[in-house]
Formats: sequence, C-alpha cells, structure tokens
Amino acid sequence: MATAASSQAGYHRVVPRTNCPHIRDHISPNWAEVTIDVSKPCIECNDASENWRCLGCQGVYCSRYINGHAAEHNKSTSHSISISFSDLSTWCYTCDDYVTSPLLHPITTALHVSKFGEVPPNSDGIEIVSEEGSTGIGEGTSDSAGGSGPSKA
Ligand SMILES: [Zn+2]
Ligand SMILES: [Zn+2]
Ligand SMILES: [Zn+2]
Repeated sequence: MATAASSQAGYHRVVPRTNCPHIRDHISPNWAEVTIDVSKPCIECNDASENWRCLGCQGVYCSRYINGHAAEHNKSTSHSISISFSDLSTWCYTCDDYVTSPLLHPITTALHVSKFGEVPPNSDGIEIVSEEGSTGIGEGTSDSAGGSGPSKA
C-alpha cells in the first residue's frame, strides 16, 4: 500500500494523485472531438463564475463554493471525474482528491486552448510530428495490453 506518510501539515500544496482507478472509466473516448467552452454556465443554476465539467457526461456544474451542483451531480450519477474551468485541475469525487493521468492530457490541453487560446507551454505529451531526422522509431517491444506504462516525469 503506497502511503504518503511523508507529507506534512502546514504545506498547502496540491499534489494530484496519479493512481486514481476511476479516470479510465469516466472519460468518454471522443474528447478530442468535443468543443470545450470554459465560459459555459452551470446547467442547474446558470452561474458562470466557477464551474467544473463532468468528464462522464460532459455536463457543466458549479463548484462547492457556489451552489455545489458538481458534487450533487456526482452523488446522483456516480460520475466521478470533473475538470475545473478555473485552474484546469481534475478532481475525483470517489478518491476525494485531485488526480492526474496521461489520459487526461488531451482534455486538459483542449481546456487550456479554450481558456487561453494556446496550448500549454509544458505540453510535452502532445505529439509533435517532425519529419526531419527522426530515427528513433522502433520502440515498443513489450507492448502488452493497455498502454498504461509508467508515466513520465
Ligand atoms: Zn478516483
Ligand atoms: Zn450550479
Ligand atoms: Zn456527469
């Protein structure tokens, strides 16, 4: 059991957990085709100040600091994963923690583009196709089921 016993009280650092098992089940596969509009209001109360997008059904709901419709939505649907329009962090209601995963990368990138009009500067996960001098092909000897290898950095 991996425990995080090394963290100390007093620091308010958000370190998302990387082992959330719910992400994979709660992401629709077609996120690359979804248009994301970070200015969308909450479906329930129309508040547009601080919303989360459910990655299970792509509904937009307000945070617990507004009217808590995102949390309510989780309770009534068991959709676990939401991404913040405010800071692009991802929250799992089941883990009750911030989470991250390479699976979320295209979604975070799409949100970032919608919010700031550009891709995130540290988006090294984005496929960069360079045709010149790319000789590094030929990996993937052990390509066993899944593609959930160790995350880089
Ligand atoms: Zn989780
Ligand atoms: Zn609301
Ligand atoms: Zn949902």
